[in-house]
Amino acid sequence: MNVHDTARIAEVMGQSGYELTQDPGDADVLIVNTCSVRHKAWHKGISEIGRVCNAKKRPDVVVVAAGCVAEQEKEHWFEKMPTLDLVVGPDHYAALPELVAEVQAGRERHILATGFDRGRSEDFLFANPDKKQGPTAFVTVMKGCDERCKYCIVPSVRGPERCRPMDDIVKDVETVTAAGAREITLLGQKVNAYASDGATFADLLARLDRIPGLARLRFTSPHPKHMDPALIDAFGTLPSLCESIHLPVQSGSDHILEKMGRQYTSDFYREITAALRHRCPDMLISTDLIVGYPGETDRDFADTIALLEDVRFSGVFSFKYSPRPGTPAAQLQDDVPELEKQRRLAFVHDIIAKIEREIRATLVGRRYDVLVEGRGRNPGQFSGRLRNNQIVNFLMPSDVKLTEVGGELMEVEIIRAMPHCLEGSLV
Ligand code: SAH
Ligand code: SF4
Repeated sequence: MNVHDTARIAEVMGQSGYELTQDPGDADVLIVNTCSVRHKAWHKGISEIGRVCNAKKRPDVVVVAAGCVAEQEKEHWFEKMPTLDLVVGPDHYAALPELVAEVQAGRERHILATGFDRGRSEDFLFANPDKKQGPTAFVTVMKGCDERCKYCIVPSVRGPERCRPMDDIVKDVETVTAAGAREITLLGQKVNAYASDGATFADLLARLDRIPGLARLRFTSPHPKHMDPALIDAFGTLPSLCESIHLPVQSGSDHILEKMGRQYTSDFYREITAALRHRCPDMLISTDLIVGYPGETDRDFADTIALLEDVRFSGVFSFKYSPRPGTPAAQLQDDVPELEKQRRLAFVHDIIAKIEREIRATLVGRRYDVLVEGRGRNPGQFSGRLRNNQIVNFLMPSDVKLTEVGGELMEVEIIRAMPHCLEGSLV
């Protein structure tokens, strides 16, 4: 989501005549986009802003702190960093060029732009029809989150849930596909809770599936409790909807899930993933996981490991729990020692690496469509993704001409499973 936000910031500034530079010493405006979901990310944002402010040599350079840490720190940041000019929360990117101009004109010294919009049609940034798109693109369908997972700072830094009108989303997908994108990922903190004018998320997918030129549709991140039957039935029915899903589970222990306020059990999660695989037997499922949540015992952790082995995830983003300010979990004692958190994280990594390797090995010898995303690491090699989201690298015969940026759909046979990707050969 932040990658997309950063791209949108660059686009908004670009529309006002700014160009990206590789040399920060050259820049008139330095923008640091930040994330506060975990302590480590928050710390990185804080340090980077400090570094940029301290390195500010010319007084006319405008330094901007953007994103979730900006929303969290608000005006306090100016007290800590007097050379910081602008603090801009996630709902204020459209105004960035204007705010920068105000600082440059010397009208204001410290400008704070935080707080949340009402989520009207015009509060979402539309895709720029003049921008040439790569093979894959993101489209936002909702902002914020009304869920109250006890560990999570997102609702307080991204605001309440606001869904975009379906017609606007359709227009954006049409714009980016007309500009070259073949694969769209729909974005929202709880994307499958989308609801607008009586339309559900499954209705939205069915509508987007009809857009000519759209080859592949994905979404992130869904919440397990909103995986309703209509959405599950969309898999294997809508031709563009890919056979992979990133479905954050967070824990395999019912006791911990309850403490987290996730509102489902581990068996419910097993049932949902089994239903998805019933529709699409080859579906690959990835997830997010938190280890070392307050009160997580060895027994709870063993339940998580059992879930990993039952569901057989093709990828896991696993994190050590870190208390976030203002969240209910921050009131609990962070009682799993750091070393134990590290041990649990390493254990998860080992198990998942083994399962991932086994899953990749089952793909060898099979043929798939690959969406070419660009050049691979080695000379003559191109890289792309399968519908199941696996990355495949393949050699291109010298007589086949591909664009550098990709976007072609080609058939490959998988010839080898590598530790983090696949190797294929063009059919
Ligand atoms: N909206 C998405 C993800 C939001 S944040 C969802 O509901 O799944 C991305 C991931 O960061 C979460 O899935 C969770 O695994 C992790 N995360 C969030 N808060 C955290 C915390 N306090 N400590 C450690 N990990 C956290
Ligand atoms: Fe945070 Fe996701 Fe829970 Fe919302 S659904 S509170 S974003 S973890």
